[in-house]
Amino acid sequence: MPGGDRKMIFLEKPQNWQCSFDGSEVIESGSCLNFFWMLPIDGEIEHWGQTYSFTENVAVKAAVVGDSSAFTVDINVSADATVPCARCLSVAPLEIIRNFRYFYRPLAVAASFEDVEDEDLVLVQSLDEEIDISDQVWESLIISLPEKVLCSAECRGICPFCGRVRNKDDCGCSGEAIDPRFEILADRKQEDRDNVPGKGGNQSGNSKK
Ligand SMILES: [Zn+2]
Ligand SMILES: [Zn+2]
Repeated sequence: MPGGDRKMIFLEKPQNWQCSFDGSEVIESGSCLNFFWMLPIDGEIEHWGQTYSFTENVAVKAAVVGDSSAFTVDINVSADATVPCARCLSVAPLEIIRNFRYFYRPLAVAASFEDVEDEDLVLVQSLDEEIDISDQVWESLIISLPEKVLCSAECRGICPFCGRVRNKDDCGCSGEAIDPRFEILADRKQEDRDNVPGKGGNQSGNSKK
């Protein structure tokens, strides 16, 4: 491991992820088998134009059932991360707990399932051997990353007038104490309304909503 504070950025699944089970065990048992892994992820994932920071493990559970022609694998991923709050940009905690279902089929058998056009279908040489699901776990983790996370549901965001984060202390700006530039805009808006009755009102111009 390289020292220093720089975090590893994962563009694909961490190379040390060991996440596979013995397919022959599943076929022989004839019932649903449960598997469990703790996959280390100490680093960052870039997604939705922001950075998700992980420091611990991704806990993965898989419930596998099937025979030599098809497996159904229910994958549960859970992990803790942090990501900038969508309103105030402070560090917001993120708890991921999601379930995904994948279908595994041997290539030879899959040819007879022409109707199946499933993006959750994984083709393997044979099910009667070691089945590696780490790619599907990685995919599940990425899909689980929400676009918007809030530090708290009550986050008051950044003041549009002075730019300060409003959660801790009130910056003192009120709706009335408007930046002079906005006052001009407000005047203009009023004029628009006066000049063109029945139009406008939708061009606030001072916020991206
Ligand atoms: Zn916030
Ligand atoms: Zn303010």
